[in-house]
Amino acid sequence: MRCSMSGERECCAPRSTCPRSKRIDSASQSACVARLKQIAMGIARTIEDGKVEISEIIIAGDTPGLEWRLPVFRFTGTRPEAPRTYIQAALHANELPGTALLHFLVERLRQAESEGAILGDITVVPQANPIGSAQTHFGELQGRFDLGTRTNFNRDFPLITLGERAGLIEDLDRHSAIDRLKRQLLHKALSCDLVLDLHCDDEGLQYAYIDEAFWPEAADLAAALGMDAVFLSDGESSAFEEAVAYAWKCENTGEKKALRDRLSVTVELRGTRDVYPEMARKDAEGLYSFLAARGVVAADRASLPAFGGVVAPLDNIEMIRAPEAGAILFHKDIGERIKTGDLLATILTRPGMPDGAVEVRAPQDGLIVTRVSTRIARRRSDLMKIACAEPSRAIRRPGTLEP
Ligand SMILES: [Zn+2]
Repeated sequence: MRCSMSGERECCAPRSTCPRSKRIDSASQSACVARLKQIAMGIARTIEDGKVEISEIIIAGDTPGLEWRLPVFRFTGTRPEAPRTYIQAALHANELPGTALLHFLVERLRQAESEGAILGDITVVPQANPIGSAQTHFGELQGRFDLGTRTNFNRDFPLITLGERAGLIEDLDRHSAIDRLKRQLLHKALSCDLVLDLHCDDEGLQYAYIDEAFWPEAADLAAALGMDAVFLSDGESSAFEEAVAYAWKCENTGEKKALRDRLSVTVELRGTRDVYPEMARKDAEGLYSFLAARGVVAADRASLPAFGGVVAPLDNIEMIRAPEAGAILFHKDIGERIKTGDLLATILTRPGMPDGAVEVRAPQDGLIVTRVSTRIARRRSDLMKIACAEPSRAIRRPGTLEP
């Protein structure tokens, strides 16, 4: 039967007090009123399972009958001075290596909780974008851009100061579903010190975008996850990770001090198809090692090896583009170190014709970090990202490498 207050089919009071009784008692009604208030704030009930607090962010849809829900796991630390951590995955809804990683990380954190090893609060959102997850177009998941607005799900986060955090979730009714989602996620992240946004590339090595303001302190994360490369970003975009850093920077204008002991980063966990149980378990262990090194969880051995991968500012990333349209024949793969002039790909612009192929060669020495998975190119479409020692001659606009 429906609750007379909230209209919910199943009363939201604890089952012990409201086992779908024929009559909703006053305790249940007050619980429903509380739930209505929570829904207005976009927060669902909390379930304690003994080791982890599980709640839901509720996003009202922009059309009648729609409501999005995303679970939030929260482990409470025993030391108030320990760093607070926020980790989310699949903001680009088709990028699931992070979701797999977080499944195993939560399992590991439950075990840590039972051992009394959780020192700092940890919030985990394994699948941060149910709106994107539901978008299919002619049978293909469209997880990167909001189909309604053509906006990248990882752009246009509000650039606010840390002091304005509370305002993110005030009057949410004034905002569309996707903006509500962004505000809720950013609001949660800004209560923390360490913020990790887990993504992946198309075909790629493991790498990260790290604001140069956090480097080299963040080398521990790169080492813990065994990254092959780090791209140092300029903090000039409205991506989630940079909106977090922006708020911190505003806290103490012009001072790196505000960022000491903090970290906000976009981790690229290889390619979209790199979703495997053992890989995810290994990545979860790596992330746990990072949390141990930062004092978020207790561990017997908290030291990490030195980071030995490539470090390149965004200006040093060669975005290799197709000069013309056609079928792509790659001659080089991710992980290969290439020399200036090496043949990277052949584009079959006019198949069968004597002059029907165009060569794409390396502009300078470097490490191939990513490659597209499609084998058909449009003119000027991206083919590869190559991390190099010298700045690219191509002009790069401030902010992200890709729209
Ligand atoms: Zn992404």
